[in-house]
Amino acid sequence: MTGCAELINSGRSSDGDQLPDLPAVQAFADRYAFYGVPGTPDDVARLHRYRARLDQIAADCEEHAVDAAIEKLNALLAQTGASPQIAAHDGRGPHLHVSRPESPLADRMAAHFAMGLAWLVVAGQAGRIRSCDSPTCNSVFVDLSRNRSRRYCDSRTCGNRLHVAAYRARKLAAG
Ligand SMILES: [Zn+2]
Ligand SMILES: [Zn+2]
Repeated sequence: MTGCAELINSGRSSDGDQLPDLPAVQAFADRYAFYGVPGTPDDVARLHRYRARLDQIAADCEEHAVDAAIEKLNALLAQTGASPQIAAHDGRGPHLHVSRPESPLADRMAAHFAMGLAWLVVAGQAGRIRSCDSPTCNSVFVDLSRNRSRRYCDSRTCGNRLHVAAYRARKLAAG
């Protein structure tokens, strides 16, 4: 889920799109199980479209609209041509590939991340998907705490009480 959250957050950032072009998409893919899989310029727009849909699914999960999330996940899995296969390569033991090697990189990534979300949903854990409570951040994260009490994403500033207090004080002063 880390990769899926990072993908969604790349489109939610207040600093603009964090995956704006092919080199950025390729570097991201390299870090998440698609090392050496070449993308094309077409994959950037495709990935942005899939990302918006994954974002919607995460929002559904956060709102406990599990049926809506399932409907969207099934559509996404079908459209990305998800087709599970067990593979073993490059010294790695048997593991699951969710998509066909000939599918476009964006489709393979979307299928991979949709599958990650699907596992959470079928495990009854969709409610662990949450958006950061910081007033300056909207990042999505998976709350793995035992009592589901986490409020902030991993960023260094978000969970920092002084940071939040300073922001509220500035807003109050401005308003
Ligand atoms: Zn593999
Ligand atoms: Zn945050």
